[in-house]
Amino acid sequence: MLEKTNGIVLRIIPFTNTSQIVTLLSETGKKMSFICKEACRPKSIFRGQYDFFYTCEFVYQYKGLRSLYFAKEVYPFDMRPFFRSNWRASHYASWICALANAVSVVETPALYRLLSESLDLLNSPSYPNVAILARFELKLLQLLGLLPNFALNCGCEIEETKQYRFHIADGALMCAEHDGKTVRFHEPSILINKSVIVLAQQLVTSLVSTAYSKETMRKLLRLLGLFINYHIDGLPISGRDTCLKEMLHT
Ligand SMILES: [Zn+2]
Repeated sequence: MLEKTNGIVLRIIPFTNTSQIVTLLSETGKKMSFICKEACRPKSIFRGQYDFFYTCEFVYQYKGLRSLYFAKEVYPFDMRPFFRSNWRASHYASWICALANAVSVVETPALYRLLSESLDLLNSPSYPNVAILARFELKLLQLLGLLPNFALNCGCEIEETKQYRFHIADGALMCAEHDGKTVRFHEPSILINKSVIVLAQQLVTSLVSTAYSKETMRKLLRLLGLFINYHIDGLPISGRDTCLKEMLHT
């Protein structure tokens, strides 16, 4: 019996000389891998039907014993065409898809919706807004139950002019006065101020139209990079660094 599902193409890898395995994040948030037999042959029914960042319908057959599905037909219905010409936007898209691929074990439709809306925002001919990427990372951490809690652990009030140390391993935020009493020299941490915390909270609760200073965004992205690299295994984090190189070093 044939079944079908809609989803976003996260990954395409060769299977044999002529076949490919396509990994999809389905609308239910489930990660599914399909064998597309003979996909690389000139007259294949799959040619042009799927590519990175497409939303497609996959018609497939499931043969019990394996974790792979056999694709029978594929229909693209959102090709997000600007990723073919805007290399920077496609670079951002690659990173968020890799991140979704690494964590999709949670299987929630919210992950699909977040990825879909983030790709739609990036799919434009203009220079991509880095806030789309920061928002994706924050909301993904929220779905995983890993969103950093930016209240001070020591119970103090956050003041406008002070710097606070955010500890990557346990996500604890400490003021200078109380932080001195805990010894954590071997653990990564980063100094942030109130504007970073406010920006993170705005991105989690609203859309990416939030205004921000470049310096504040840079700090938030550093924090998120360290935090994600520490808490999520098996990520191509160098892809993120390449993406943000210009942003982080100018
Ligand atoms: Zn304190």
